[in-house]
Amino acid sequence: MEGFGILEQYHIPQVCGKCGGVMVFKGVGEYHCERCNAVDYDDYGKVRLYIEGHPGANAAQVEENTGVSQKIIRRLLKDGRIEVAEGSKSFLRCEVCGKSIRSGQFCPECETKVHNRIEAQQRAINQKNAKGVGMGQKGDEGQRRFMRKDGF
Ligand SMILES: [Zn+2]
Ligand SMILES: [Zn+2]
Repeated sequence: MEGFGILEQYHIPQVCGKCGGVMVFKGVGEYHCERCNAVDYDDYGKVRLYIEGHPGANAAQVEENTGVSQKIIRRLLKDGRIEVAEGSKSFLRCEVCGKSIRSGQFCPECETKVHNRIEAQQRAINQKNAKGVGMGQKGDEGQRRFMRKDGF
């Protein structure tokens, strides 16, 4: 059930707007009415379709034309479910340097930096643990104080 969380946040057509029939999922955000064959799209399908037809569109334009909130559009981009066309206007920005990016949270350079920082942090944690500091600090301190008092 990976990626199921987003289903709670975006609109999915369940009932046909024309005949009230059940909308059957056909893939990539597209749904067909099992009774009259009407076609409808969920938020992902609408955004995907709009971006395909309007490669230079920005988030505000996509929101205006699809009725899908920018919050959901950004979420879809971050999840890598949609991607804006190369050379299109600022759509999504790197969360570190603000450079416009096509999908994800960071530009490739910052993504590397972010990972480097995480790795460095993990190294520091490992080093601390190796020295026996970091975990159960309070207890250690208490023990040290006790030992000092004990005629160190
Ligand atoms: Zn129908
Ligand atoms: Zn960046």
